Amino acid sequence: MADKKVYMDYNATTPLREEVRDAMVRDLEIYGNASSMHSSGRLARSRIEEARSSLGALLGAPPGDLVFGSGGTELNNTVFHTMRRLASEQRPPFQGRSEIITTAIEHPCVLNSAEYSRNQGLKVHLLPVDSAGKIDMEVYRRTLSDKTLFVSVMAANNEIGTIQNMKEITALAKEAGALVHSDGVQAVGKIPINVEDLGLDYLTMSAHKIYGPKGIGALYVKKGAPLYPLLEGGHQEKGLRAGTYNTLGILGLGKAAELALSCLGEYQERTGALKAYLREGLLERIPNITINGHQEDCLPNTLNVSFPGAEGESILLSMDMAGIEVSTGSACASGSLDPSHVLMAIGAGPSLAHGSIRFSLGWYSTREDADYVLEQLPPIISRLRAMSTLGE
Ligand code: PLP
Repeated sequence: MADKKVYMDYNATTPLREEVRDAMVRDLEIYGNASSMHSSGRLARSRIEEARSSLGALLGAPPGDLVFGSGGTELNNTVFHTMRRLASEQRPPFQGRSEIITTAIEHPCVLNSAEYSRNQGLKVHLLPVDSAGKIDMEVYRRTLSDKTLFVSVMAANNEIGTIQNMKEITALAKEAGALVHSDGVQAVGKIPINVEDLGLDYLTMSAHKIYGPKGIGALYVKKGAPLYPLLEGGHQEKGLRAGTYNTLGILGLGKAAELALSCLGEYQERTGALKAYLREGLLERIPNITINGHQEDCLPNTLNVSFPGAEGESILLSMDMAGIEVSTGSACASGSLDPSHVLMAIGAGPSLAHGSIRFSLGWYSTREDADYVLEQLPPIISRLRAMSTLGE
């Protein structure tokens, strides 16, 4: 194993930013239950409300419209749970509506929630995407109808970084009278997101993707939009999310949100320039490679590359031996040898999909890291291609 370590898997998770870690270490002293009426409880509560305001500023949301929960998976599930309840109740203004529209490239927590909803009797449409990962707006328009209850489209994709035109998607859904959700887990902190400007009813975010702690996230729920809690229990979060407040997690999230907002421009410039450098370097040094995802409408930090003739898992393991940490698709899919559903949806075909690597850069990525990858990767690819029976 190499002594050197280069972490380029920021879309899987981020380290805590130093400022977040320092703030959380100080906040370990805050132990009161935020639901208690005594002064320790009130202190915890007031700090939670400050964190809520910081997150509201990042998302362009009134702080009172944010619900804290354990992260993207739980909160996306809560929204789908709500839709199933609405479909079964058939009360105004959702009478006659029981269809869900989502996309083929969503995160598994959305795709599996959609599949579960289908098993519960709802009709689910999975929109196709084009070769750059953008949803087919013509198919979308044709799929929307007065039966559509709900549209869920991720703002940006975790594997290829493609950014959807959420404003247009939301406007069309609203014309059809449907509720709209966006999984913003990968977009928040990387591109500007303003929920009110986008016209969304729901948006999910997760702290561990923005240099905050794991196991905490938030859901924006527009005033008046229905939400049914997933967990039965106490009255925390206005009865929308039961369970004792994860005070330390929420405070870490608040600090991370504050930094994400103040550093967004610098983050975009830094990761964008480094990604361009890495991309050009790879194109120069390694023949026959394909860059996946949209060339312009793409997260500044995300670079997904196919190396036909070499197998993704073998590339990943060889890079890991050299101290470079990347991913072959979503972290949750690793461990399975199925090709990425996202790459298959953009029509990459099994050979390109099997030989793809996601580089996701972040706040602590450097030019030296990129140079190290550019030095180490070309011989790895040549070696694997020479050994391979896959054929380029
Ligand atoms: N949605 C997207 C797009 C993601 O990338 C992830 C995590 O990889 C999730 C949801 C799940 O979020 P969490 O890890 O907070 O459960």
